[in-house]
Amino acid sequence: MSPVSYPYEAPVSQKLFERAEAVTPGGVNSPVRAFQAVGGTPRFMVSGRGAYLTDADGREYVDLIGSWGPMILGHAHPEVIAAVQAAVARGTSFGTPVESEVALAEEITARVAPVEQVRLVSSGTEATMSAIRLARGFTGRAKIVKFAGCYHGHVDALLAAAGSGVATLGLPDTPGVTGAQAGDTIVLPYNDLAAVEAVFAAQGDQIACLITEASPGNMGCVPPRPGFTAALAELCRRHGALFISDEVMTGFRVSRAGWYGLEGVAPDLMTFGKVMGGGFPAAAFGGRADVMRQLAPSGPVYQAGTLSGNPVATTAGLTQLRLCTDEVYARLDASAERLRGAVGEALAAEGVAHRVQSAGNMFSVFFTEDEVHDYDAARAQESFRFTAFFHSMLEQGVYLPPSAFECWFLSAAHDDAALDRIVAALPAAARAAAAAKPAG
Ligand code: PLP
Repeated sequence: MSPVSYPYEAPVSQKLFERAEAVTPGGVNSPVRAFQAVGGTPRFMVSGRGAYLTDADGREYVDLIGSWGPMILGHAHPEVIAAVQAAVARGTSFGTPVESEVALAEEITARVAPVEQVRLVSSGTEATMSAIRLARGFTGRAKIVKFAGCYHGHVDALLAAAGSGVATLGLPDTPGVTGAQAGDTIVLPYNDLAAVEAVFAAQGDQIACLITEASPGNMGCVPPRPGFTAALAELCRRHGALFISDEVMTGFRVSRAGWYGLEGVAPDLMTFGKVMGGGFPAAAFGGRADVMRQLAPSGPVYQAGTLSGNPVATTAGLTQLRLCTDEVYARLDASAERLRGAVGEALAAEGVAHRVQSAGNMFSVFFTEDEVHDYDAARAQESFRFTAFFHSMLEQGVYLPPSAFECWFLSAAHDDAALDRIVAALPAAARAAAAAKPAG
């Protein structure tokens, strides 16, 4: 049973969800879209424009999910749509090299200095999966290190103690991942340098790579402590392991060059997705040329994809990236600052314990007294308060991620009118959070 009652209805979405549940597990094609953690009916969206989404019942929402990150310019940006329409009219897939994939690779390498060469794929999962295969092939070693609460897609070896939907649903490690697939994965607490040092001291010569979210956003927003990322890079270097920074979420979102652009620590390999696809399935991994050249066909590590570098997806991504100017990032930063302040004020006014944590223009709210540095602390929050907060915002036409463990994503299309609507909804949502009681 859901912990709150809904004073609003969504009959068309409800009907669609019933149809969906009959033919699709849980009624959704990615678990984070379900309202399982917060209860109620997921809204079926029919259109998006700028900062707004419209659902099948005709209700309009200010969108703070942005398709989980990609829609940095807002929905249906006219220049992206025009470029995509022109690309579609020329044909949707050729299975040959096309110029737009070269141009997108050039745009990425021009923006992110440590990326000398890049390979395009279709999802962030593929990017991280391929990057760790490449790291293992390059080093001839098997073990990989990851952090609890970091999500790198649903790669078997990386699902241990994962964030995102795994955190939202409170799942233990996933059935279907065998001991053999996960046996070489070492999971450590985020921001705990001593734990990383101990593992490298004991097993450093067996570790192929350490992979981390550049600034974790899949357990809520938990940025690295000052110096943590640099220390990870140095430990990897000293032990001959590769340092992989997963920028699928932060890449081209928090600055022109993603988290690397803010912190300046150069990884050996990086992974990208979301923003660089412009709302289409496009992702990438890249980095040091000597490592990347180990990939087939220039090297022996096999990696491939029928739709990799797809002309429509790469056109969308390239057009969006070219529109992501310094002004866009400045605007996103200013909007995020305004919203963070307003959320904090509203919750403080109702005496709700909270922490608003941020990484550039990405941020999330933890319903807890103390700063959150790792997954255990993120899980200790009073997420029942988020449930009440979420539904109050939804009822008032603001579409938040349906999980206490996800970041809120703004777009450059969130103008004063859109932000005003969010800010106006906050006092009631804060009151709902204050009044909330744990379920059961
Ligand atoms: N890495 C990070 C940091 C992510 O946030 C995600 C998705 O949320 C992924 C990898 C996986 O990307 P995809 O969902 O495109 O497979």
